Amino acid sequence: MQGQQVREQDTSEIGIGVSDVYASAFPELAVPWEAGEPERPALLVLNDAVARDIGLEPRWLRSESGVRSLLGNELAEGARPVAQAYAGHQFGNYSARLGDGRALLLGERTNALGELRDLHLKGSGPTPFARSDGYAAIGPMLREYVLGEAMHALGIRTTRALAVIDTGRRVRRDAELLPGAVLVRVARSHLRVGTFQYARSMRDEELLSRLVAHALERHYPERQDDDTPALALLDGVIEAQAQLVADWMLVGFIHGVMNTDNVSIAGETIDYGPCAFMDAFEPTTVFSSIDHNGRYSYGNQPGVAQWNLARFAEALLPLLDGDETRAIEIAEDRIGRFAALYESAWLRGMRAKLGISHGEDSRAASTTDSDEAVHRDTELAQTILQDLRDHRLDYTGFFRALADAARGDDTAIRAFYTSSADAGSDQRSAAGADAWPRPWTEAWRALEPDADAMDRVNPVYVPRNHLVEEALDAATAGDLAPLTRLVEVLRAPFDVRPDRARFALPAPAGSWIGTTFCGT
Ligand code: AMP
Ligand code: MG
Repeated sequence: MQGQQVREQDTSEIGIGVSDVYASAFPELAVPWEAGEPERPALLVLNDAVARDIGLEPRWLRSESGVRSLLGNELAEGARPVAQAYAGHQFGNYSARLGDGRALLLGERTNALGELRDLHLKGSGPTPFARSDGYAAIGPMLREYVLGEAMHALGIRTTRALAVIDTGRRVRRDAELLPGAVLVRVARSHLRVGTFQYARSMRDEELLSRLVAHALERHYPERQDDDTPALALLDGVIEAQAQLVADWMLVGFIHGVMNTDNVSIAGETIDYGPCAFMDAFEPTTVFSSIDHNGRYSYGNQPGVAQWNLARFAEALLPLLDGDETRAIEIAEDRIGRFAALYESAWLRGMRAKLGISHGEDSRAASTTDSDEAVHRDTELAQTILQDLRDHRLDYTGFFRALADAARGDDTAIRAFYTSSADAGSDQRSAAGADAWPRPWTEAWRALEPDADAMDRVNPVYVPRNHLVEEALDAATAGDLAPLTRLVEVLRAPFDVRPDRARFALPAPAGSWIGTTFCGT
């Protein structure tokens, strides 16, 4: 990144070289801190692709010295690890001081594109922000690895795990003693809405402006020269979040804890806690054991994202206009644009899923779209989703079966509706062989769906909750083989693998897991 001092060395015996861009730019928002030194660390997984992207040599990282460096125990000169300060709304309630309680920013490295990437630890021991023991169990840290790889392969912005290391230390979670782990993750940055809320609470306009300039330069350089930087940043983040949440909705992902401290300014999926992918399509689905009111259910996510962005705009108010009333008007106008941005991102993606984009880039805004076509396709998509909901059809599997139907083979889609009817209790289900075609099928076919294009955007494999849990349970018991197999499949989510058919199916009856635990 230009304009900012980047001090980095290549890897060597002296440890991973990192710059201290954030630590030196924001001493007010960082507490210098050192990572704990586990006695018997053991590398569980190393992400070779991520390592190479930030110029680290995987073979060296696997060495004793490499693992020590990953843990932040052996860093090259100039590294200044810090716990980052942030505030945040958790389930709607404001906490003035959250911060990295068990995490550290080691520093930054430059990737192959010349962009800065944060190297960050989670589970590295208590910091002054700790709210609990400061450690992490291997299950949740490996979950971040699995989900991050899956999201990345699906083309969705996400932080990614570089490594997960067993610390040899046991951590107590409820009544259990579990193996502890440190996650080493790579992110575009760890700037969160909560970072801006914290900066705002310090009533230091110069600090807030500096933070805005830093975020703009780092994540939205094309907007840097705008007259009102804070407004340019707000617009950038609104757009990025609209796309991100649309992407989540299109793959059936439920983040689970969309608190403002878990909303990345770079627009990445961050802090995988009790998250999950839906099997049967049901917008009220909630997985998180801590989400009692369904605040962060699947269907609420776009609304919550907008709510979180309003908190971001509030933090920026003094920089939007000198006159507070005017600043609020500006903020409200911009936040009001989120819905349209979200809806168009969603419709672009949904058209691609239904095979009716016809060559249009599923991410780029369309210029030729008539209101009529938007209305028609939105209605069609809503009708189909309502049908999925009525029949409790598997969301991921449905779109692949639909692609088969587009190429003239309706065996799979017919089986979907028939088995839904067989499931019995649901009065709304259509019966047996009459189940296909559906009332909407003709309208969809009239749009000449492109089956091959559908298969390029509709995954066969997503990290289904029962598969993730199964892999994490095995890993916790010492067997990493199921996790390795799962990640391998998730890294090529659009390629059918006949030998991995089980990974494409929803949870078998009786083994569906409806609750995911925060597992901090
Ligand atoms: P999260 O739910 O992971 O977004 O975390 C919310 C806040 O609690 C953050 O400030 C975390 O650093 C802190 N926190 C979560 N788990 C722990 C832990 N085991 N030890 C110390 N602090 C924690
Ligand atoms: Mg968090």
